[in-house]
Amino acid sequence: MIIFTSDIDWATEEVTAEMLGIFEQYNTKCTLFVTHPSKVLQNCNRDLFEIALHPNFNPILDNNNPQNKTQDSILDELLGWYPEAKGVRSHCMTQSTPMLSKFAQKGLLYDANHFLPYQKIQAFKLWNGMWRIPYNWEDDIHYLYEKSFEETGIELNENDLFVFDFHPIHVFLNTDCEQTYINAKPFYQNTEELKKHKNTTKTGARDMLISMLKITKEKKYANDNLLGYLTQNFL
Ligand SMILES: [Zn+2]
Repeated sequence: MIIFTSDIDWATEEVTAEMLGIFEQYNTKCTLFVTHPSKVLQNCNRDLFEIALHPNFNPILDNNNPQNKTQDSILDELLGWYPEAKGVRSHCMTQSTPMLSKFAQKGLLYDANHFLPYQKIQAFKLWNGMWRIPYNWEDDIHYLYEKSFEETGIELNENDLFVFDFHPIHVFLNTDCEQTYINAKPFYQNTEELKKHKNTTKTGARDMLISMLKITKEKKYANDNLLGYLTQNFL
């Protein structure tokens, strides 16, 4: 089973739309962990895209919290924008035992915070009734390992579970290494400026996404979003 996920991370509408367009082109499902209100996300094709939450708890942890946000207010705000969400992966993978209890109280069914890069993964049930679905590949961690985007670093097969995590910004920039992102980051909210900072010389995250989508189709690997996978197998 090949599952694609994406942490939206406040990408601009244009940057988000471009990534969704790639999934549309290959008619492939993806779970979107969303961070903010967005017309593109609110109107996206629900046959392909599942909306899940990507709460940012960093203001609380960093003691930089002028709006006095709490775990509850952060989750409630996101759920107010996207009441359909059943899954959660925190920005920066923030998690704790009380936080997981909070996720369950809010009616969320699964947590996707557990990252095991390039490892074998399987879903398992948590003590609070939620399911945890780990993931085993992420674009920005791939470049932090200084790995090339020519290869994912994991051998796909039809029996195991593979959960990929792409960020719209890295698909847009076709990020090939950390420096490409560092150069572009000051223009994060300015799509026109970002265009000037795209990697155009080396194989990058966008190339890898497209090749993964092609392989999934060609080899007829099973594909679903996380909620679909959970519902089919465990609920
Ligand atoms: Zn994030």
